[in-house]
Amino acid sequence: MLKNYDVIVVGGGHAGCEAANAAAKLGSSVLLITMNMNTIAQMSCNPAMGGVAKGQIVREIDALGGGSGIVSDLSAIQFRMLNRSKGPAMWSPRTQNDRMKFAEEWRLLLERNLNVDFWQDMCNGLIVEGGKIVGVRTSMGIPVYGKSVVLTNGTFLNGLIHLGEKQFGGGRIGEKGSTGITEDLVALGFESGRMKTGTPPRIDGRSLDYSKMEIQEGDENPSKFSYGNTEALKVQRACHITYTSPLTHDLLREGFDRSPMFNGAIKSSGPRYCPSIEDKINRFADRDRHQIFVEPEGWNTVEIYVNGFSTSLPEDVQLRALQSIPGFEAAKMFRPGYAIEYDYFPPTQLKHTLETKLIEGLYFAGQINGTTGYEEAACQGLMAGINAALKVQEKEPLILGRSDAYIGVLIDDLITKGTQEPYRMFTSRAEYRILLRQDNADVRLVPMAFELGLQDQEALDRVNRKVAAAKELIGALRKEGVSPEIANPILEGVGSAPLSQQIKLSSVITRPHITMEHVLEMSEEVRKLADRLHVEHEDAVEQAEILLKYEGYIAREEEVALKLSRLESVSIPNAIDYSSMKSLSLEARDKLSKVKPVTIGQASRVSGVSPSDISVLLIHLGR
Ligand code: FAD
Repeated sequence: MLKNYDVIVVGGGHAGCEAANAAAKLGSSVLLITMNMNTIAQMSCNPAMGGVAKGQIVREIDALGGGSGIVSDLSAIQFRMLNRSKGPAMWSPRTQNDRMKFAEEWRLLLERNLNVDFWQDMCNGLIVEGGKIVGVRTSMGIPVYGKSVVLTNGTFLNGLIHLGEKQFGGGRIGEKGSTGITEDLVALGFESGRMKTGTPPRIDGRSLDYSKMEIQEGDENPSKFSYGNTEALKVQRACHITYTSPLTHDLLREGFDRSPMFNGAIKSSGPRYCPSIEDKINRFADRDRHQIFVEPEGWNTVEIYVNGFSTSLPEDVQLRALQSIPGFEAAKMFRPGYAIEYDYFPPTQLKHTLETKLIEGLYFAGQINGTTGYEEAACQGLMAGINAALKVQEKEPLILGRSDAYIGVLIDDLITKGTQEPYRMFTSRAEYRILLRQDNADVRLVPMAFELGLQDQEALDRVNRKVAAAKELIGALRKEGVSPEIANPILEGVGSAPLSQQIKLSSVITRPHITMEHVLEMSEEVRKLADRLHVEHEDAVEQAEILLKYEGYIAREEEVALKLSRLESVSIPNAIDYSSMKSLSLEARDKLSKVKPVTIGQASRVSGVSPSDISVLLIHLGR
């Protein structure tokens, strides 16, 4: 009944949606099998996208032709650019989203692509022939055949939900868990593990007293994620901030003996940087309060997400503790928080394309690889979808380097180092932070996406206009000088040392506290040019400012990236026998045999491999 597809995507979460969209955009016939058509692109946890490092990923996804940025813009209720007071490497866009609209927009986006077929069913097994995937089995007993399969099962594989002393099977609260796939994969020789995550209770907003909380508005001039034609928000919804108190902590502690976190029921490791409230008060016992973000779940709902209060304590303990928080005295709960344990597959079993090393044509993306977060899942889905389609079309894969994108860092970290706890992205994981900014993801990636057919001519033209306009403005600033008479009143106004002789505007802008706006005040002619270039591309002026202000740092990182790229180009043959290389340390022999790095650059990032091991390898390879 179901035809033979190029790409079968299992799971309609963030990874699955991106995978299906990307493969279909590349012209592959795609079947998206998901357990429930009504939960496509469901935000399992917080109704928000982006944030530090994650916002950069969403912009990269958008530049590569993915859907997350567009869908986030269409469903946003608030936009903030985080870390504006820091350097541009740290600027991170974040939206608060309407949970229902987010899911609706994703489904619409997929439905508009006629290459995507849908099937509501649970995939419960894989069909493998001669080391190659040829299809999947479903719980309705229907075999579906395909040339490649992308598994994006999220938190569903043998999911076990914990709520106080109660435990029940499920992939998310109210949804069945997924069985059969882990068992098949283990029988095929895959190693699996268990991880845990948790979510806070949802509250009836009508029962809250916002006058006791601080208000958190969106940006005055909100931006957006997509480089394309979506619109920035004109009206926004505010969030609120409140705090736990010592009484809240005492009330939570009273439930510790019934907590699955502390009574041994939960054995697996959870997200270190997104700890539960019980974990926070246990680990940071000296802190007498923790921040709680009170976030609306959408435009047309009173439901509230209590960010910072993730918990799996019994529901009565949750409610008592919540009611001790200012503004929550009369809080009513829609549903309690809970924790969930699920199977994942250590990602060292994958290639850079996210294809598994063991089974040809089988790809893993998202939480199944030990990551946490929508953005981390979405970008893996995008890359797995692209590479599954390219493989079917017998084309070269798309592999992003660590200096190309955060996505490149994430995948390289996962497949090279693996992860023992849910992996989330941070700016500190990237060694080329000043290159991987949210403002230039289009410059970095749109040309690549255009070559592949994931972006159209309009997107490429837009990037070219941005680059050319920024270059023209930089050229003018390098040429135009400013005299002390004109510059000094402006410089002194911001506490910057006065000039004693004429200097170029490009030098003035490198000073701390001096912005493009100050510099444009110094030259009517350059201001006119900037105004014209702003019309060419609205980001051109900001782009010129960043490129000039951080010129030295950018050049230095580019130089390091170039040097290290030489190591990335030294390939290691697949058949290399590390166990016979006695000059390698024992640990290096062991780890390299397991990870099987494809280049010297990748080998140098395997944990436990030292610079002297790399020298041994280079000599062995005759370099
Ligand atoms: P999911 O979004 O989980 O989607 C999986 C999809 O696959 C679902 O549509 C499901 O129906 C479908 N599916 C599964 N198995 C099958 C099958 N066999 N056949 C057909 N369809 C199948 N992230 C954070 O960053 N911070 C947090 O604090 C956080 N807390 C979380 C708390 C909870 C309780 C949960 C459930 C998740 C939490 N997350 C958190 C994680 C976040 O939701 C995930 O990282 C993200 O959704 C993963 O995306 P995904 O596409 O990999 O999987």
